[in-house]
Formats: sequence, C-alpha cells, structure tokens
Amino acid sequence: MIYLDYAATTPVDSRVAATILALLTADGDFANPSSNHQAGLRSRAHVAHAAERLGALINAHPDRLIWTSGATESDNLAIIGAARARAHRGRHLITMPTEHKAVTDTFAALEQQGFEVSWLAPDSRGLLEIAQLEAAIREDTQLVSIMHVNNETGIVQDIAQIGAVCRQHDVLYHVDAAQSLGKLPLDVGNLPIDLMSMTAHKVYGPKGVGALFIADRPGCHIEPLTYGGGQQKRLRPGTLAAPLIAGFGHAAEIASSCQADDLKHLAELRDQLWGGIRDVPGVTLNGDIDGFPGILNVSVDGVEGESLLLALEPLCVATGSACNSKSQEPSGVLRAMGLSDMQAQSAIRFSLGRPTRGEDVAAAVELYCNAISRLRGIAPEPPA
Ligand SMILES: *Cc1c(COP(=O)(O)O)cnc(C)c1O
Repeated sequence: MIYLDYAATTPVDSRVAATILALLTADGDFANPSSNHQAGLRSRAHVAHAAERLGALINAHPDRLIWTSGATESDNLAIIGAARARAHRGRHLITMPTEHKAVTDTFAALEQQGFEVSWLAPDSRGLLEIAQLEAAIREDTQLVSIMHVNNETGIVQDIAQIGAVCRQHDVLYHVDAAQSLGKLPLDVGNLPIDLMSMTAHKVYGPKGVGALFIADRPGCHIEPLTYGGGQQKRLRPGTLAAPLIAGFGHAAEIASSCQADDLKHLAELRDQLWGGIRDVPGVTLNGDIDGFPGILNVSVDGVEGESLLLALEPLCVATGSACNSKSQEPSGVLRAMGLSDMQAQSAIRFSLGRPTRGEDVAAAVELYCNAISRLRGIAPEPPA
C-alpha cells in the first residue's frame, strides 16, 4: 500500500499519541477540565498549554481560540454564528463554489433560512478574482468565506488581499484553513482575518478536534449553535476533550518547528511527481503548479475515472474530492473551474505528507503511467 492521501487525513505523530494517552487513564490527568478540584486544575492546565501552542503557531492570543470537533464544526459555527449575529444589519453573504462541503453546504442551509448568498465563480485555476469580490460586496453584506489552501487542487487564495477588501467594507472575513494550518505561514496577528477554522487531523494530530479563531475586534461576534454548560464563553459549551486538545496542541508545536523543512520536502516530492507524469499524453494539471506543494491534482483525457482508481489499486489517492468519492458526481470544485464532466471524472488527487519518501512517489508515477497505458489498450504487456 502506498498512501498518498494526506489531504484526507494524516497519521497521528507518535509523540502526539503519547501526549493523548497520558490524559486518558486513571494514572493520568483524566479529570474534567471544568472541575475545580486539583485534578480538574491539572486537566485545565493541559488545555491552556494546548491553546498557547496553537496560538503560537498562528500568532493568536490563546483566549481567541474556541475548541471544536474539527473544521466542519468550526466552519458551521463561524458561518452560521456570524450570519445570525449580524442578521439585523443585513442578510447578504459571499463565498465560492470551490469551497469545502463544510462551507458550501452551510451556506446552502442559510439560503434556505432566508439569507442571500453570492457564489463567486473562480478562474480556470480555481482562484478568486479580487475585482469580482469588490463588485459583489453590497451595503447589506455581512460575511465573506474564502478558504486558504483548496483541499482538492492545492491552490492558495490570496487571503491577505481578500481580507483587506473585507476590512475596507466592514465585512467579516472567515477563512477555512484546514489544509494550510501548520503547513504554510499563517499569522492572524497581522492578517485581516476575523474567523479561521482549523483541524488537528490534517496536521498529524487526532481526528475529532479542531478550533475556531475569533479575532478581538469590534463587530466580530458570533452566536452559539449549541447550548449547555458555560464552557468556552458559552460559544461552544460541553466538556472539553482535553486529551484530543492536548494532542492538537502538541501537533501544532511540532508543526511550528518543522514547517519550513516539511515545505521543502513536499516541494521536492511534488516536483518529482509532476516531472514523472507531466509528459503522459493527455495529462493536465488542475490548479496551479505554484500552489501548495502537498497536493497535486491531474486529469487525463480518454480514461474513465472509476476504472483508473481501480487500476491504481495499491495506491491510496483520491478522485476529485474524498468527500465526494462515494457519489458518482464529478467534483463540484473542478466543474466550477470549467472542467468538463469527463475531465473532472478522470481527476486524481495525489497528496503528499511528512512520511512520504521519494520511493513512494517513484512507485506512484510508475503505477499511474502503467494504468493509463493499460486503460488505453496500448500497453505492451498485461498487468502482472
Ligand atoms: C478536511 C477539511 C475540512 C473538514 O475537517 P474535519 O476536521 O474533518 O471536519 C474542512 N475544510 C477543509 C478545507 C478540509 O480540508
């Protein structure tokens, strides 16, 4: 098996796993972090330490972080929470069809609830044209949500520029940073971002924990979506998942220290991968070679996607989007970029990670090239 699906999820770093384990059992700090006894204080200290670590990674004050169950919940809380908190000022919202489902489905739900959403079309690489955003903002616009790194193609939106336009018009800016956290520089202390969604499991932390950054600015308020105990300023009540949160904090700290090396490693592997397949006739890159190097999305003419995935068998890669792969629908992201159904259906997303080695990429290149030759019926010999 060759795993090249790190954009779907990453394995937990073994150091992170040890941190989590230490907070689970009777001989560890398992107490409820809301409890006021000594054991509770110890759990609370682990959560506070995690907030320091995650805050350090993105240059945010630890108090500005709300723990959630992952980026899906953070997206929902940010978008619905902000839309409701500002509904008295206006009900117009802006996003793109190339966002993750956690964002597009949330906006679709808000449309059902009487909000009006402008869906900005991307250019052929999947990028927002800033003039389009400026043209779409109205008097009653309250929120713009445009992601950092796209999960299917790896293209990187210019969040500094988008945020600056939002600030000019007093519109809140939400960024889904699930794919970029710990991988690209992200400095919310200096970027004009109001709300930012994060998740641990894309950055060698555990599944089931995420965070939402909320800027300390006038007008930047959200309403809670759930009610219960008074935890987390009542914005996201419930007993904190201290073991997972501590794991997230540790993963964030590791990412802080090896981000530059990771990026260099990924760029080398991406160049090797693209160098190995770019000359296959009919292969095209979806997105931009200058995007985030951990993701490479390619289509190929005249080959049917499902058969391609089968032919790639020992290779764990995604067709279009992992979240869409159960349905036969071509990826909405690739369709929005102007690909035909056929092109979108033949798309393969390779995503590389910290454990990926050159041999893995070499094997992937060979498998991909052989599979295409075979499916086109021009292979000299049948598969072994
Ligand atoms: C993975 C991902 C999500 C969902 O994150 P979960 O933590 O799995 O809920 C949201 N947005 C983007 C861009 C992602 O890549």
